[in-house]
Amino acid sequence: MNDKAKQVGFEAVRLENALQVVRPKLGGDIPIALFRLVRLVVMEDLFGHAADAQAYLAGKQLGASLGIKDLDQFLALCEELKIGMVQVRTDGPGHLHVDVHECVTCSGLTPVGRPLCAFEGGLIAGVVESIEGVRVRAREVTCIGGLGDATCGFELTIVK
Ligand SMILES: [Zn+2]
Repeated sequence: MNDKAKQVGFEAVRLENALQVVRPKLGGDIPIALFRLVRLVVMEDLFGHAADAQAYLAGKQLGASLGIKDLDQFLALCEELKIGMVQVRTDGPGHLHVDVHECVTCSGLTPVGRPLCAFEGGLIAGVVESIEGVRVRAREVTCIGGLGDATCGFELTIVK
């Protein structure tokens, strides 16, 4: 926080506060275009190559703060928020693979030659960390809109 922010009594917007939505006529849903404008266009304008790292950290912080207790709760949340249709499989001890179909961030884009869904990767890592109590890293190995794949696929490995 800079000095000017302190002087005017800067108060961070917390998740609980941000989720208080009162829009009697418009309701709680927005078009995906608005989310993608902020997540892809604005973040890359502001942060360039660092946008992915910022998005990953933001997703991870959010994932860890949701208080999710098990995988079913996480899958229900993904469905409720329409992040995508999520499938999880175990690739041997300590390795999880998560596939996201119809990803909110990228599904339908003309591929740009790199994975785009760092926010989702961070979110998944943060949730798995809070469920399992271990440090986890998620790496996006396939991406619908970024690379032209069928799903956005994330490999999760335990960080020692
Ligand atoms: Zn993707």
